Formats: sequence, structure tokens, C-alpha cells
Amino acid sequence: MSKTDQTPQAPGHRPIPGLAQESPPLASRIIAVGAGKGGVGKSTVAVNLAVALARKGRAVGLLDADIYGPSLPTLLGLDSMEQTVLAGKLQPHAVHGIKAITIGKLVDPDKALIWRGPMAHGAFNQLVGQTDWGELDDLVIDLPPGTGDIALTMAQTLKLTGAVVVCTPQRVAQDDAVRAARMFGQLGIEVLGVVENMSYFVGDDGKEYDIFGKGGAEQMAGRLGVPFLGAIPINTALRTNSDEGDPTRNFDPATAGGEALPRALEAMGDAIDREAATAAVRAGQAKPTLRVT
Ligand code: ADP
Repeated sequence: MSKTDQTPQAPGHRPIPGLAQESPPLASRIIAVGAGKGGVGKSTVAVNLAVALARKGRAVGLLDADIYGPSLPTLLGLDSMEQTVLAGKLQPHAVHGIKAITIGKLVDPDKALIWRGPMAHGAFNQLVGQTDWGELDDLVIDLPPGTGDIALTMAQTLKLTGAVVVCTPQRVAQDDAVRAARMFGQLGIEVLGVVENMSYFVGDDGKEYDIFGKGGAEQMAGRLGVPFLGAIPINTALRTNSDEGDPTRNFDPATAGGEALPRALEAMGDAIDREAATAAVRAGQAKPTLRVT
């Protein structure tokens, strides 16, 4: 039984009509994706991580907890889809091999933008606790940027396997990312590692250009004493596939502008899968498994 069913309804937050007040089935692993500030590609990493894990055969849920600025409707192409409620439960959208739920399909995002802490807290708990996730191996949570209320609510509500911090290579982005990592530490959430997004650009000439100074996030991970989980290039196909709501295309060289992006996303998925597996064992969420090859 999860703690969500014990969470009081936040003042000012109206439950969605027709929903039962029940606890969620838990995922074997819960991985939050956070960033020190907006625009560094946190949601892009969360979406592509979820798809990468699903492509490895795992049953994956993706929760858009960026209550104040949900981007999943765009990134997953949910705009024309209706949010349905069945037997008192929100039905996640089954797209791109994952199950996804977002506040963006429940309220006008412009209204959510002005919600105060308790309302966002109630909305988060409703999304977590009243979604019909079914059996999940992994639940990936796309957090709002920065160090705000939702991360605190999440830490109080769910037992996380760990958090991934996304950052761009520049020094200012790193400073914010360090603050985000410290916040996870203070909330008792293990930092699984750091992903560097917009790390480098591969030109038509096939050369790599380090526009923002590749490698900054790796150094920062070293300073924090956490693993470096991979570098994702700046890639026009990633941007257009995201705008068109089709992350599956990022994993096929024919629609991903070549090999670099699929390789980087798969390597990131593998690294996070590995770190989450060992973190889950440390946290007593999973038993060690022996793989004989
Ligand atoms: P955040 O969640 O940190 O605010 P998003 O994931 O929404 O950021 O990304 C912001 C914008 O940058 C989106 O338009 C996204 O498609 C684009 N973007 C993110 N990462 C990359 C990348 N590596 N290459 C090209 N565009 C990217």
C-alpha cells in the first residue's frame, strides 16, 4: 500500500469528478528526472529515457509532474487525444511503447501556471494515485525545473529509486544543476547521475562541434561524486521529432539524422538502467540478479 492514499486532499484542489480515491500499484523502480533550470532538455531526456527503457523490454510509465509547464502533450503527440476515465481511474495514454499521463490533458495549462503549492501538491498526488498504471517496471517522473514544491511532495509521497539531473555544458547551467542535486540529497533521494544535453553538434561535414564546451557536466558529476550518464548531441532531428510528438523516430538513424543520436540515447538508457538497478538493490526494492551469458 503506498503512502499516497494517506495524503490529505490539498486545500483549494478539487478532485476530478468520477475518480475513486485509491492507492496506485507501484512500479518496481521510480526514476525522477530533474534540472536546475528550464530549457536544458529535461523533458526531452525524460521522454527519451522512458522510450529507451521500453525498447529494452521494460513496462514503462511516464508521469509529467511539470505541473506548471507540462510538455508531454507536445513531446508525445497527445494533442488530439482525449483523457479517459474508466472505473474511476485515469487511463494513461499508450503511445510509443509507454504509458503516459500529464496534467496538460486535464486542465488548461495556463490555469495550472498560477496554482499555489497545495494545489500543485494535490494535482501531483492525484496523477500518481489515481492513474490506472497496471503493472509497471519503471515509472519515470518529469519534474518541474528548479528546486520547488513538487519535488518535496514527490519525496513525501513516493519511495524513489533515484533521480537523474539534466544539465547543459555551460558553467551557469552546472551551478543550477548542483543546486538541484543538493536538493535531491536533502530530500533523501539518491542522485543516479548527470546527463549532459546539447553536449555537441555534429555538422553536415560529420565533424563534432563543441558549441557550449562539451564535458562540463561530466566534470560536475565528478565533483558531486555521482556517475556521468551520457552526453546527448544538439540534433535538429531531435528537435523536429519532439515538436512532432514522435520520440520513436529518435531511435532510427534514418529519421534521427544519422547514428549519433540513437547511439547516445541508447547509451543513456543503458547507463540509467544500470544505475537504477543497483540503486534499487541498495534500497531493498529489488533483489540482485545474476545474468549468465
Ligand atoms: P526543459 O524540459 O528542460 O524545459 P525541453 O526538453 O522542453 O526542456 O527542451 C526545450 C527545447 O529544446 C525543445 O524544443 C526541445 O525539442 C529542444 N531540445 C532539447 N534537447 C535538444 C537537443 N539535444 N537537440 C536539439 N534540440 C533539443
